[in-house]
Amino acid sequence: MSTLTLYNTLSRKKEKFVPLVKGKAGMYACGPTVYNYAHIGNLRTYIFEDILKRVLQHAGMRVTQVMNITDVGHLTSDADQGEDKMEKGAQREGKTVWEIAQFYTDAFFSDAARLNILRPEVVCRATDHIPEMIALIRQLEKKKHIYLSPDRNLYYDISTFRQYGAMARLHLENLQAGKRIAVDRNKRNPQDFVLWFSLAGSKFKNHVMRWESPWGPGRPGWHIECSAMAMKYLGKKIDIHCGGIDHIPVHHTNEIAQSEGATGKPWVNYWLHGEFLVLDQQKMAKSGGGFITLQTLLDRGFDPLDYRYFTLTAHYRKPLTFSYDALQQARQALSTLRENVLSFQEQPASKPIKNTYANQFAAAIADDLNMPKALAVLWAVVRDPQLGNKEKLALILDFDRVFGLGLAHLERREAAIPAAVQGLVERREQARKQKDFRRADELREEIAGMGFLVNDTPEGPVVKKR
Ligand code: AMP
Ligand code: ZN
Repeated sequence: MSTLTLYNTLSRKKEKFVPLVKGKAGMYACGPTVYNYAHIGNLRTYIFEDILKRVLQHAGMRVTQVMNITDVGHLTSDADQGEDKMEKGAQREGKTVWEIAQFYTDAFFSDAARLNILRPEVVCRATDHIPEMIALIRQLEKKKHIYLSPDRNLYYDISTFRQYGAMARLHLENLQAGKRIAVDRNKRNPQDFVLWFSLAGSKFKNHVMRWESPWGPGRPGWHIECSAMAMKYLGKKIDIHCGGIDHIPVHHTNEIAQSEGATGKPWVNYWLHGEFLVLDQQKMAKSGGGFITLQTLLDRGFDPLDYRYFTLTAHYRKPLTFSYDALQQARQALSTLRENVLSFQEQPASKPIKNTYANQFAAAIADDLNMPKALAVLWAVVRDPQLGNKEKLALILDFDRVFGLGLAHLERREAAIPAAVQGLVERREQARKQKDFRRADELREEIAGMGFLVNDTPEGPVVKKR
């Protein structure tokens, strides 16, 4: 059994994974902001998280994955500035913010299902957890981490949290006010962030999403939802928290300040971050417009799993450059793989021989989820001239519990054999067993008349369309 090691952003090192409770793993993955479709960059991150979950499961652990749905309107910039994303989406489409949220939540899970991303055990909407967020802010208030600004918004005072920015290795003395982001007169430090937006005097006065709170009517800031929901469903200390690398310096940094500020204790043991999918060397920003969705790929004739295969060709901590040529190569590889699996299924005869593929595969995935290496093991199995088809199939289907390429459910497109033909095949088998070869030949003719061929193999009859 290989020891699972994961690269922890906290230490910038690969560390042995030791769960809080033996045999179980809890993981929190920041989910989508549901004001638009996910782009294929976002989907790369969700596939990485799905692989992480499948690797934990493959190692025999019971995984509880929690994913939030950000359905509260948040701002188009991380730095508490800009427009409200949900309101912007609603205006664009002439719908209410609630309709927008539901529509894009459904669209997200439909994309995820097409990519064979396993549904998280807990999916939680921010708008269903306002009381939990308020309770957490109350705790921060008691511990004097917050202040009310002149514009009546509630801010986290980062100077009260000594370790602020430790994971991101932010050197705050270098980030003087006004250098990085325009000075906000309401903030004491440029990195202070909003916990509660007040409606009083705010530019969001007319917005429909609003809740009562001890600090007046308003709505939560973005970061508080993840701290509140992660702690609600996974406890005050959790195994794994993950997301894309863009979340390290702001969102996850602020989540740590909130959760650890409230409990006074370390919160997450392993932070994992996936690198970006890049398009012509540029970040594919969702808010930038003109981004590629899964549907864009389908419209060009690709299968969703072509994209999943494509993402497995790079390690999750390496940037991956998207191009249609590269996707085409992934499609070709997946199609060859499927052809092979089908032929192994159809001719499952083999003599078992000793091999080390299972160990090689386990070592690859345990080495910080090294999917390119794991794929190389898969192809070595496919191409091994010694190994029999039955062994190959068993290994490949076991590996596919991690890859998630749907190889266990392949059918030849034309493969469906009508029940009437199947019935004749069975009667012919009976006749052969009784050594009534004349009858067997007659039945073969009848089957041929219906457009099918029977091939007798040591494993039994194989039926194909003529
Ligand atoms: P968002 O909906 O913007 O919060 O993003 C959802 C997830 O996608 C987050 O984990 C982000 O870190 C991640 N993400 C955003 N852009 C990209 C990209 N181009 N490549 C990979 N992951 C991304
Ligand atoms: Zn989050």
